[in-house]
Amino acid sequence: MPQSFRNASSAQSDIKAAFTDAATMFVDFVLPPACSFCKADLERNEGTTDGITLCSRCRVNFTNNQQPACLKCGMPVGPYVDTSNGCPECSRRGFRFEEVIRLGVYQDSLRTACIRGKSPGAEALATAMVSLLWHEQRERLTEFSPDVVVPVPQFWLHWFTRPHHQALTMAEALAERLSIPCLDRAVRKTRRTVDQSSLPKAKRLKNLEKAFQMRRGVNLKGQRVLIVDDILTTGTTSNELARVLRKAGASSVAVAVIAVVP
Ligand SMILES: [Zn+2]
Ligand SMILES: [Zn+2]
Repeated sequence: MPQSFRNASSAQSDIKAAFTDAATMFVDFVLPPACSFCKADLERNEGTTDGITLCSRCRVNFTNNQQPACLKCGMPVGPYVDTSNGCPECSRRGFRFEEVIRLGVYQDSLRTACIRGKSPGAEALATAMVSLLWHEQRERLTEFSPDVVVPVPQFWLHWFTRPHHQALTMAEALAERLSIPCLDRAVRKTRRTVDQSSLPKAKRLKNLEKAFQMRRGVNLKGQRVLIVDDILTTGTTSNELARVLRKAGASSVAVAVIAVVP
């Protein structure tokens, strides 16, 4: 390309970039970006460099639980406990998933964020929390090396009462971070179930019996699957879903959640 054309093209790019910067600054001036949880104005560079639209105070609040966690079930454990094969609580349960990767424990502001993230129009908050999970647990998520992401499905009737399904929003955002497909229609929930947290342990398995079914034609042979949900309580839901996924050929299953409920 002749030098004069090259200079003209480079000048055009510079003008375009300057225009984009000016437009962004104008939008930020008129509508300053706000924290997706507490709505405080984001400081300069917050949310723009890593895509986490949370203020620094909320980030600290969501990640300040430093208690060690069981590598298998994600529940808090005491110091110096070897959890490479699970903690005393989960090693008896024979989970069908390999590990639980989570942001924190379901308490204080993280609990409020999980509850608020279910409300209609809370997609930005759900996405921000997944971005923070990615920031904090990127190493474990990439080490598991999933091929696909599967959200815990909800019963079809719930789409009328809960148009925003938090697990799906989170699964799509995490799949994008991992650059892998989100199989949002691979599994269906065949019937309405009672909220697991309201049931005694003995009734939880019965509650989910045959509640998940693979859709016809979905082949997961040899696939490493990452289940995504907002919270994990006893692990019964993820375990039942993992059982169905493995029966469909998945070679390995892990679970990613925002919080575990001890
Ligand atoms: Zn905030
Ligand atoms: Zn455990």
